[in-house]
Amino acid sequence: MKLLVLPGDGIGPEIVGATVAVLDAVDRRFAFGFRYTTRDIGFASLEKTGTTLPADLLDGARGMDGTLLGPISHLDYPPRDKGGINVSAAFRTQLDLFANIRPARTRRGVFHRGTEMDLVIMREATEGMYPDRNMFAGTGEYMPTEDVAISMRKVTARAIERIARASFALARARRRMVTAVHKANAFVLTDGLFLKEVRKVAADYPDVELEEVLIDAMAALLVRDASRYDVICTTNFYGDTLSDLASELSGSLGLAGSLNAGADHAAAQAQHGSAPDIAGQDKANPTSMILSAAMLLRWHGERAGDARYIEAAALIEETIDRVLSDAATRTRDLGGPLGTAQFTETVVAALG
Ligand code: ATP
Ligand code: MG
Repeated sequence: MKLLVLPGDGIGPEIVGATVAVLDAVDRRFAFGFRYTTRDIGFASLEKTGTTLPADLLDGARGMDGTLLGPISHLDYPPRDKGGINVSAAFRTQLDLFANIRPARTRRGVFHRGTEMDLVIMREATEGMYPDRNMFAGTGEYMPTEDVAISMRKVTARAIERIARASFALARARRRMVTAVHKANAFVLTDGLFLKEVRKVAADYPDVELEEVLIDAMAALLVRDASRYDVICTTNFYGDTLSDLASELSGSLGLAGSLNAGADHAAAQAQHGSAPDIAGQDKANPTSMILSAAMLLRWHGERAGDARYIEAAALIEETIDRVLSDAATRTRDLGGPLGTAQFTETVVAALG
């Protein structure tokens, strides 16, 4: 398996380094023969090449089986014409990684703010409210006069159909419920089209229950009782917002992994940002990135029809759960004593 490794900014090099150490431990056991190509993105790249995303990088990614995508800092981020390219947006749109899969799960013994939960947010990632992701790319947000600002949102039947299909297929392998999150009472055309397409796909999955919830109600319902949700299917901006809520409710941002998945490529990426406040201090919890890499292995195994990768993913997840279940081997964000390096060593040792 060929992997593109992009450490990124802030705590990126620490958590991506930890993840490679965990993958190496898995490789010793399964003999996958992982091959890594490491490249600079973000500020490290900006200093050397004048851009946060070198032009040939995405083409290089196309030839790989997957990417470990580190976080990019948005602190003092230069404008686009000064080389400040949004790296995750470029991966999602140019490699067509349409599904941003964001699980939120509580773990026994680990502090969490609400009810127990085990849910997955399926966020459509190639269109929606983001100004760089509609047909007026770059001008999707504009000011007709200096005191009026307008933004536009793109929703297509094709994009909703595929995120809905991925959501129902995932729910079928889990607790068989999809919650479609929308605001069709206000956004009659855009969220109306979203609901229409989700209902069409639902007809192909009679064994999976579909419920429809308004985005505002969903925020309250997650806080009240997140335990009843299984797969949440939604558009880009709603999914972005809800996933921060869900991951924080589930414990810590440091636990929140995610995968950007398309038909031909997938990029493992922590849900959080570059956490500049704790960068370089051995304080970051690498769990988010390690679990993202496990999602990448599972995606690869399902696509290649190779059960060993799925087994390896499950082993990483179980090992992380086991290490986190002991208060003495938790990282600082979870009230534990371990730094990034010692936590990683513990996980590697537990992988055997
Ligand atoms: P960015 O501009 O890159 O998004 P940010 O300041 O918004 O950076 P985030 O990375 O989004 O920071 O995280 C918010 C806070 O959560 C950070 O200040 C950090 O303390 C904490 N945090 C995030 N990720 C982790 C992690 N992996 N381990 C420990 N703490 C984390
Ligand atoms: Mg942030």
